[in-house]
Amino acid sequence: MTAYERQRILLRAADLLEKHNDELAALESWDSGKPYEQSAKIEVPMLVHLFRYYAGWADKIHGLTVPADGPYHVQTLHEPIGVAGQIIPWNFPLLMFGWKVGPALACGNTIVLKTAEQTPLSALFASKLLHEAGLPPGVLNIVSGFGPTAGAAIATHMDVDKIAFTGSTATGRIVLELAARSNLKTVTLELGGKSPFIVCEDADVDKAVELAHFALFFNQGQCCCAGSRTFVHESVYDEFVEKSKARALNRVVGDPFKGGVEQGPQIDSEQFKKILKYIRSGVESGATLEAGGQRFGDKGFYIQPTVFSNVQDNMLIAKEEIFGPVQSILKFKDLDEVIRRANDSPYGLAAGVFTKNIDTANTLTRALRAGSVFVNCYDIFDAGVPFGGYKMSGHGREKGEYGLRNYLQVKAVVTPLVNPAW
Ligand code: ADP
Repeated sequence: MTAYERQRILLRAADLLEKHNDELAALESWDSGKPYEQSAKIEVPMLVHLFRYYAGWADKIHGLTVPADGPYHVQTLHEPIGVAGQIIPWNFPLLMFGWKVGPALACGNTIVLKTAEQTPLSALFASKLLHEAGLPPGVLNIVSGFGPTAGAAIATHMDVDKIAFTGSTATGRIVLELAARSNLKTVTLELGGKSPFIVCEDADVDKAVELAHFALFFNQGQCCCAGSRTFVHESVYDEFVEKSKARALNRVVGDPFKGGVEQGPQIDSEQFKKILKYIRSGVESGATLEAGGQRFGDKGFYIQPTVFSNVQDNMLIAKEEIFGPVQSILKFKDLDEVIRRANDSPYGLAAGVFTKNIDTANTLTRALRAGSVFVNCYDIFDAGVPFGGYKMSGHGREKGEYGLRNYLQVKAVVTPLVNPAW
């Protein structure tokens, strides 16, 4: 298929996804419990944008001519890798589908994608729409299966040429091992995080509180890049804690299909129990429980928006990924100290910086070891912005032009300028 034909299919797919915005959003919220308004107004529109973005790339992927040292014509061809295996998680099923499928198709690959067992529906419907848009049979194959069976089968398969995985660091390690043990397929990984959100002494406290709240609580706290270590300068610390507590107590928890609801249930009982265990560990290790701390209501996997202050770096809640609505607030005195503490983590997915001072912003953005640094904003997931991790948060970048690299093979073609045989 020509690049232009691929582009047209992706554009038609974007139109169909847009037309079915509300159904896709309903499936997404039924499966995951996230607020319908979030699915309908943020996530499906972002998916549509992403398909248009990668449709734009489809006919702009080209190689180079290289000035070789010798009488040779050297060119590079950017070819599709072949069969891309893709394994996605349950926290953003549709967006993860888009981040994986969009660039892979733009580059001309075929796909076997496994959805998370908790959230199979929206990708099936989106895939149906892609076929309606003209995708030939066999190009995009969705497997609704379990990780250790279907996921592992993709990771070990000898005819899968590349694997893209998003999920926990523990499972990412397994996938990398399976790839190494089978055919050494190339692997990109987008894994866990324990991202710092740093509120500097010059911060407007009300705005900082709101953004730090969003950075942690968005999507029930189930974000790999959640700002889950809120570092606050000692000069604004007490006010910040008081106001963060008030904001958490005001967070609207409830039926995800009700208007105005900010927080739905956690994904399943396993995550629900794990989060409550982390909350108990926070209390036992001596952090101050400012808000929440219990399940919300007596039905469903709802958890009260929870805020801890006086959190110390060595507590489990400051070290491990909780993946729930639990904010940990830590105090700092100066920039060198907060840089050292923020970077003292095996993860390096994202970081937030809240300051009016450009020197502070420049210092922090360069010093923080994270794949995304958001200055006075958070969770900006525009299709063109690359996303991925340093350290144990992953390998490679998704989205943007960088995301194309995961799905292309480079072939160098060398031809003598004068054929020696003549
Ligand atoms: P979580 O703990 O957040 O559910 P996982 O990393 O276990 O995250 O899951 C992310 C994705 O990885 C899901 O699609 C899941 O089915 C898949 N998965 C889980 N275990 C394996 C495995 N052993 N091999 C391949 N994929 C797996």
